[in-house]
Amino acid sequence: MLRLTGITVRYGDTLAAHDVTLEVPGEAHVLALLGPSGSGKTTVLRAVAGLEPIASGSITLGGEDLSAVPVHKRRIGLVFQDGQLFPHKSVAGNIAYGLGLARDEAGRRMPRAAQHDRGAELLEMVGMGGFGDRGVAGLSGGEAQRVALARALAPRPRLLLLDEPLSALDRGLRDRLATDVRDIVTTHQTPAIVVTHDHDEAAFLADRIAVLIDGHIHQIAAPRDLWRRP
Ligand code: ADP
Ligand code: ADP
Repeated sequence: MLRLTGITVRYGDTLAAHDVTLEVPGEAHVLALLGPSGSGKTTVLRAVAGLEPIASGSITLGGEDLSAVPVHKRRIGLVFQDGQLFPHKSVAGNIAYGLGLARDEAGRRMPRAAQHDRGAELLEMVGMGGFGDRGVAGLSGGEAQRVALARALAPRPRLLLLDEPLSALDRGLRDRLATDVRDIVTTHQTPAIVVTHDHDEAAFLADRIAVLIDGHIHQIAAPRDLWRRP
């Protein structure tokens, strides 16, 4: 389980996240961070990933205080809006990068043959089987996001962070990929935080929605309870 307790993030004089407290219980739980542009969603995600220092508060994952854990040892998978795949690598090469980061309990790398099998399995899982040899440059937006998701899942992360993973896609593709993201998270039993400014997307993807306004959590509720009047 991930727990943020009263975290604050500043950029100079800007208080980008203020006293943010939230939990993502384990397994396949998905929490959406919903809010308008500039409300601090990406800031909270970056703080969890270790890409932004927190001015106060604490972040724990599985009971471990993350403040002392460097970014590459947090075992957190990241997917951004535009995928950010390595443009000169093949699809399989991008997945191989993720697999190269994988370590077992004893800190050993995954053997080559196992990497190969797992790479193929991941591509099947995101509906991209047979795309291994393709260049990344020729992929559609939806395909690129699927590969980014497979790459993020490759090292078997403890937590998946998705920053507007669907917003660069057109409507039809978005609905289809949203369903797949849900399925993949469930299959993989990986808890996730999804940042979005889209109410429908949050309601569809998430078990709970945290509404951020001006860097502060306004409300956290299950989608069906969020807009219900008291
Ligand atoms: P959101 O993801 O909800 O759009 P952000 O977390 O990106 O919001 O931004 C929250 C606030 O922090 C905004 O006021 C934004 O302008 C500011 N901000 C974000 N990144 C930086 C930065 N690198 N330097 C200074 N201010 C920043
Ligand atoms: P590079 O990263 O050297 O430019 P690639 O991106 O094509 O080249 O491949 C990087 C790594 O990805 C290779 O060393 C190999 O381990 C793995 N790889 C590439 N293509 C495949 C494939 N079709 N199936 C399995 N693994 C592959």
